[in-house]
Amino acid sequence: MTFENLNIILPIREALAKQGYLNPTPIQEKAIPFILEGNDVFGCAQTGTGKTAAFALPILQLFHTKQLTKKTQGIKALILAPTRELAIQIGESFDDYGKNINIKHTVIFGGVSQGNQTRALQQGVDILIATPGRLLDLMNQGFVKLHTIEFFVLDEVDRMLDMGFVRDIQKIITKLPVKRQTVFFSATVPPEIKKLANGLLTNPVSVQVTAVSAPAEMVKQSMYFVEKQDKKDLLKFVLEKENINHALVFMRTKHGANKLVKDLVKFGISAEAIHGNKSQSARQKALEGFKNRTIKLLIATDIASRGIDVDKLTHVINYELPEVAETYIHRIGRTGRAGEGGAAISFCATEEKAYWKDILKLVGTAVVIETPPKFNNVRTAEDNAPERKRQFGNSGGSGSNNRRFSNKRRF
Ligand code: AMP
Repeated sequence: MTFENLNIILPIREALAKQGYLNPTPIQEKAIPFILEGNDVFGCAQTGTGKTAAFALPILQLFHTKQLTKKTQGIKALILAPTRELAIQIGESFDDYGKNINIKHTVIFGGVSQGNQTRALQQGVDILIATPGRLLDLMNQGFVKLHTIEFFVLDEVDRMLDMGFVRDIQKIITKLPVKRQTVFFSATVPPEIKKLANGLLTNPVSVQVTAVSAPAEMVKQSMYFVEKQDKKDLLKFVLEKENINHALVFMRTKHGANKLVKDLVKFGISAEAIHGNKSQSARQKALEGFKNRTIKLLIATDIASRGIDVDKLTHVINYELPEVAETYIHRIGRTGRAGEGGAAISFCATEEKAYWKDILKLVGTAVVIETPPKFNNVRTAEDNAPERKRQFGNSGGSGSNNRRFSNKRRF
């Protein structure tokens, strides 16, 4: 299968060739023809499958062939994404794929001043990529009007709901024209996602590239059972044993992420943290350093990590297990992207065994249990201390709320 077989027009194919894309990925193969035909699409695909291009390419093409410009003025396509990182990355994908197509797009997200964003909007855009909070804010201020939208994409909807955006999304939807084409992507499909999709999509075509909640097949998963106080030594051991020079390391909390960076720097290992307490510019800087490999380890909380797209990321390390089992799947989906292999190595402390049981139920038995060496660290008061109180939805989540939510949405 080629992009030409999918009837993708030459200017886009030329841009894709520059990106080194030779063939469509399965989600692109399945979704693009339906979107080009004007259908609503319900896509179940995790990150790393090429889902961004699955909606971006047909949108660009529909613009180019003038099927999306019935009204002359105003925003024609709206793409909602849960995090600023993902929104920025979608914007970059439109830059890459749309090089030879004359349309204007802009990205709006919170956490930065709105001046540049409102200026871009005032100059007129065809495609708007937005996080829900900032979009609503700018709508309320009158900078964004959605009545000209002809194409609407909701990306990573499960994550948007996890982050508590459901009301914002509902408010945004009421401002959209009823007659529009809608594409809806989610990595997991718990009942509340089905319900939201049913209300939003008209006669949708369902496309799916993996079983619901299946982890990326190309990812080799392994697990070390280890005491909490031994985790940093284990990390050093694993980096050496596996000869890892570049890895994304997951933590549950911002505090934990900062502390780990300090410990790693003491070991002489270059690491930076990326989480919601860091400024947008600090996060971008850390991400750039990681992408250009001046930083060996990027220590991330779950929400900050969404949308991080690093080409050829070979290793993901779950230094702390997530409380919500589906998050494990999102995490390990950062590697093994677009058909390349990858490894996910997890550390499970005694107090995390309940999370591990939940994860195993989702991923089955495809995890190799590794034996750690003996370490002689003494458990400190801090290791015994309960974790700091965290805001629900801000750091990838902890706290009883999230736990209850996770149990409720198990399927
Ligand atoms: P996504 O799932 O959209 O985050 O994409 C995951 C990764 O796959 C990104 O690094 C894309 O640049 C890459 N990608 C998307 N489509 C293709 C393709 N057809 N061939 C090769 N790489 C692709």
